[in-house]
Amino acid sequence: MKRSVLLSILLAAGAASMAAQTPAAPKVVDILKLKDNLYVLTSSTPGNPATFSGGNVAVFITDGGVTLVDDKLAGWGQAVLDKVKSVTDKPITTIINTHTHGDHTGNNGFFGASVEIVAHENTKTNMEKMDAFKGDNAKFLPKKTYADKLTIGSGKDRIDLYYFGAAHTNGDTWVVFPALRVLHTGDAFAWKDGPLCDRNNGGSCVSFPRTLQKVIAGIKNIDTIIPGHSPMQTPKDLQMYQTFTADLLSHATNEMKAGKSVDEATASFKVDKYPGYKNERVKGSIQAVYDELKK
Ligand SMILES: [Zn+2]
Repeated sequence: MKRSVLLSILLAAGAASMAAQTPAAPKVVDILKLKDNLYVLTSSTPGNPATFSGGNVAVFITDGGVTLVDDKLAGWGQAVLDKVKSVTDKPITTIINTHTHGDHTGNNGFFGASVEIVAHENTKTNMEKMDAFKGDNAKFLPKKTYADKLTIGSGKDRIDLYYFGAAHTNGDTWVVFPALRVLHTGDAFAWKDGPLCDRNNGGSCVSFPRTLQKVIAGIKNIDTIIPGHSPMQTPKDLQMYQTFTADLLSHATNEMKAGKSVDEATASFKVDKYPGYKNERVKGSIQAVYDELKK
């Protein structure tokens, strides 16, 4: 063997062992205190797989135990549990899944079948299609479901779950903590950008603004909103999001009728009048409207 070849093999082996010794980035989630008995395990915006842990998780501490709203991506269960343990000794007894996606349901299995899992009936149906809940893992599907409204607990521990129609999916739950005047929206209000309408799971960018209108009319006495994937919001922000989604729908509908392409309709939709809004996802929303109106 030539010396140069041997040297390069040794160098390659050295590089490989160094790579093996480099630890993966530690999985740590940040915690935000909203109230004495309500925390949020915060979300970064999806995009960077190394740091993206999943959606915003509400941690609600009641007399009977801890309720989580959503439970992040698979692999982040221990990080979630560690942060919950840093604020309470009580066990996690209930998980509410706002919708089917894996960045909101990924640790149902980690927390186990003894935790009561609650979701809208359509979300349970959507979850049954996921590999993560097939076979033996079906025991981690929601056991308690509802159609229009469900109340869990009472007094200061009360949680109200509402369904107002299709938006991000056809099973989006709106979770209200009435005593704290806080609303968790899941991804039906994920960010200040075009909505993701998951048509494979019954989502609808055509129904989206109408559903948000029903939410605004039907849920009162809220001060703070926990959105799906961005910092805390207010009811005024939700109102603006409703206006934004209605504007986007009417724009896309008109452009389609005028024979414009999705690219043309995207280029002519201006987000400037909506402070803080991005247009990174507008094209996807407009495409969803076109696909939906085409059929
Ligand atoms: Zn989602």
